[in-house]
Amino acid sequence: MRLTLVACIGGGQLGRMLGLAGLSLGLRFRFLDPSPTAPAAAVGELVVGDFDDEAALTRLAAGADVVTYEFENVAVVSAERVNALPPARALELGQDRLVEKELFKRLAIPSARFGTLAETGLPAIVKSRRLGYDGKGQRRVDALEEASAHELAEELVGFDRELSILGVRSRSGETRFWPVVENLHRAGILRVSRAPASDAPQAEAEEFVGRLLDELGYVGVIALELFDVGGKLLANEFAPRVHNTGHWTIEGATTSQFENHLRAILGLPLGDTDAIGRSVMINLIGGAPPVEELLRLPRAHVHLYGKDPRPGRKIGHVTLVDASEPTVAEAVALIERFADG
Ligand code: AMP
Repeated sequence: MRLTLVACIGGGQLGRMLGLAGLSLGLRFRFLDPSPTAPAAAVGELVVGDFDDEAALTRLAAGADVVTYEFENVAVVSAERVNALPPARALELGQDRLVEKELFKRLAIPSARFGTLAETGLPAIVKSRRLGYDGKGQRRVDALEEASAHELAEELVGFDRELSILGVRSRSGETRFWPVVENLHRAGILRVSRAPASDAPQAEAEEFVGRLLDELGYVGVIALELFDVGGKLLANEFAPRVHNTGHWTIEGATTSQFENHLRAILGLPLGDTDAIGRSVMINLIGGAPPVEELLRLPRAHVHLYGKDPRPGRKIGHVTLVDASEPTVAEAVALIERFADG
């Protein structure tokens, strides 16, 4: 029997978790990654090569039923060459922060004031327009200065909390949304997600992400990061892929973001996105406690990505479903002792 083959540009932990979800659906995987020790190599065939290497892309896509990607800086021409899903247009609009903010504006999705420092006022955050992630390429600005054409200024938002919402759209245009998530970042890196977020404006968040999905003719999972300012939502950015703030869905939702991404791009019916408890997801960053200690935590699901620890690197995560607050506090304290930043 010939198994359906999913090809993926990028073989990091997101690719690995897509593979883990897809194996139980009887799918086969192939990944493209420059590293011969890419985490996803454990769950599929690995093509070692650069992401924009034409020959490597051709080998990746040969015989594949669908090609997807697991990071948002895939070159638009590469995504177009292999007919990737989500559509290359989502990459194109998301890769330039100015274009992304203008898209929000066009869709009447509120976001922080942006433009020049004269337009945003001070204090502001100046971000590089392209290739920024995890808070890299951005700085706080308290006095008027000349920002370059490669940078975008944004009003510094005094948010109460950071939220995100994940949505999925299938080839037939069917959409589903997971409950809004509350996220805690430190040093620009996601540390903890809690889902569902308490008192979240679910309907409004769904409305915003739904507009994006329809505008982009989107297929697959999308994530929208939001600031909550006194109950008012401001969009920060979207990611056209499965997302760290959706890892809790593996055990905490009826259908995980990874499974629904695969269902969507393969034209299969979408699964239910409801939460099956209260989840807390804690990232393992730069280092991790011995696995025995993690496994001793009640109600913990431990995910290790098979990556060598390095400062600031996400090497795994732990999700606790319906754990007591003391257990959550114990887990956070344990993980923090071994984390950096
Ligand atoms: P980003 O790279 O845009 O995802 O930003 C990384 C983090 O920086 C966000 O998760 C926020 O914590 C913070 N941040 C980004 N933009 C703003 C803003 N306009 N005002 C306040 N904080 C921000």
